[in-house]
Amino acid sequence: MGKQWRCFHCDAVFRSERQARIHFGIDQYQMPACKLSQAEGHLIDYIRRLEVDLELFRRESHEILLAAYSTEIAARSIERIAEERGYDKGVSEAYQQALKDFPPISPEQRKVIDAAVGYVNSGSWRDLHNLDEAVAALKAEGEKL
Ligand SMILES: [Zn+2]
Repeated sequence: MGKQWRCFHCDAVFRSERQARIHFGIDQYQMPACKLSQAEGHLIDYIRRLEVDLELFRRESHEILLAAYSTEIAARSIERIAEERGYDKGVSEAYQQALKDFPPISPEQRKVIDAAVGYVNSGSWRDLHNLDEAVAALKAEGEKL
């Protein structure tokens, strides 16, 4: 006895692989012919829906459309790079503006601030209320400012 295939839905037995494929579909994920007509209503409706799906797939994978997708992706990359450069430029401009608004401190000012910070960090800050008082306290201790 040759090989045979039995459908566990309708119990039909197929003795040729070709007939079995027609009933079962191209692989195990397809709906068998006996279930198609039950589950999908009229077979013609099912076929028409498949035709629509196939047409949509063909349109979406058309060469021109794929080229358009590719161009769109490239354009988005360019936009993103431009945005990032714009952001960097904005940050750079804000920094330059901050330098104008708040000019760098002079070496003399830096010396006073460092000494005052050192004084505060040494724990001798409790009676002081601002930088001027810290400078005065340092001068009183003989620091050269
Ligand atoms: Zn069947």
